[in-house]
Amino acid sequence: MSASILDDMAAIVGPRNIVTDADAMVPYLKEWRDLFRGKAQAVVRPGSTAEVSELVKLAARTGTRLVPQGGNTGLVGGQIPTAEGREIILSLQRMDKVRAVDAQSDTMTVEAGLSLQKAQAAAEAAGRLFPLSLASEGSCTIGGNLATNAGGTAVLAYGNARELCMGLEVVLADGRIWNGLRQLRKDNTGYDLKNLFIGSEGTLGIITAAVLKLFPLPAARATAFLAVPGPDEALALLNAAKAGAGGTLTTFEIMPRIGLDFVLRHASGTRDPLSGPSPWYVLMEVSAQSATGLDEAVAAFLGDAMEQGLVTDAALAGSLTQRADFWKLREMLSEVQTYEGGSIKHDVSVPLHAVPEFLTRATAAVEAMVPGCRALPFGHMGDGNIHFNVSQPIGADKAAFLAGWSAMNEAVHAIVSELHGSISAEHGIGRLKRDLLPGVKDAVELDLMKTLKTTLDPQGILNPGAVLQI
Ligand code: FAD
Ligand code: ZN
Repeated sequence: MSASILDDMAAIVGPRNIVTDADAMVPYLKEWRDLFRGKAQAVVRPGSTAEVSELVKLAARTGTRLVPQGGNTGLVGGQIPTAEGREIILSLQRMDKVRAVDAQSDTMTVEAGLSLQKAQAAAEAAGRLFPLSLASEGSCTIGGNLATNAGGTAVLAYGNARELCMGLEVVLADGRIWNGLRQLRKDNTGYDLKNLFIGSEGTLGIITAAVLKLFPLPAARATAFLAVPGPDEALALLNAAKAGAGGTLTTFEIMPRIGLDFVLRHASGTRDPLSGPSPWYVLMEVSAQSATGLDEAVAAFLGDAMEQGLVTDAALAGSLTQRADFWKLREMLSEVQTYEGGSIKHDVSVPLHAVPEFLTRATAAVEAMVPGCRALPFGHMGDGNIHFNVSQPIGADKAAFLAGWSAMNEAVHAIVSELHGSISAEHGIGRLKRDLLPGVKDAVELDLMKTLKTTLDPQGILNPGAVLQI
């Protein structure tokens, strides 16, 4: 790449906002799980939509490839450039303003680089709830959340990122700015372009700002950590809780005993809220708009569930600290696996009725493939979305275990397909699952995706090689 392109970029963003030093670039070039390490010509950090537009115009003129990056918490490598080193990382992190909070319309307009946690706080300061909630919320950005159509732990009640977005501002591959920052709950004026960019993982345009949907802050929340005999009972409990647990069911997360064991072993300050072990657990949260009576209603619901044998033991959080303690048991689940050696991951979804069958069959399949491996399926049972992670056998060689990643994926994904599920429920395709896509996508659908990509980004300069190989 000619030095003059970098000089021209520096002229757009200011020399302080272009990083070319190898050490300073390192944090942008590797990701959380260390599955991907890339190389880049530079990291460029625009401060405004106009600067993004100028940068993309320059890239289009010179055929320069750009990899958009937000908080770099993505789990499928879409934000990491390839090892060839031909790309430039376009980091949106400096674009972190809250442009407007409109409590009357229940909307908030924010820039793409704002962290999810700061977006939640801005809503709360206006007496509103922005419900998207992920364990990575301190680092991930609204732009990244929308580019990946993130899910998380409140999808059950509020939907995923797509359902929480009313409008977008996007810089297109030719540098033009599409201002679609609408605050409209109803707008049937043609194609829904916003939903094309949401979930496109930086391959169709650069999201620079968004209008987000806000909700009333719940007046009360009840959080329970429950022992359940197995996934069948958890499914029956889920359906009973949806029908009426004393309020709106907002969270229903499942984890096996081995998950709790890992957390208790590796996460400081954690303890088992229940007195004896159970094969499975559910973290359940119910919210209500009335400040009184929720705990009693949830306790009565759990009493019934215990009589029916759906729950064998229960702890209801009695304080905000206890609530945070219960949540920590769930939120630490991803991190603690790293202390148990290699772990092979799957982010899958199946229809709700098939979750128990999936868990039984997938566990049997991986145990047959690698005797002694430790299946740790956990996650968003309320959405039929299981993070089917498998830790290496104790004492096994990590590299040898991880060498079986693709074979294990294939076996698990085959079961997912038979159950009419998805091989990427919420993390996206990125680079990790790109080559799996043709095997699971309808040929017509894949063809339409390619048509859209080549129409919106004919030179292939936006996140090349992510999602689709063209
Ligand atoms: P990045 O990682 O920087 O980028 C992700 C993708 O979006 C890349 O393809 C990138 O090119 C593109 N992109 C980023 N910003 C833009 C932009 N402004 N315009 C266009 N494209 C852009 N995900 C879930 O869905 N649910 C979970 O529960 C969840 N839990 C997690 C827990 C942990 C501990 C971690 C580490 C991750 C978790 N994730 C989860 C994954 C991750 O946090 C989400 O995918 C998140 O939405 C990524 O946001 P980001 O800002 O970090 O994006
Ligand atoms: Zn998740």
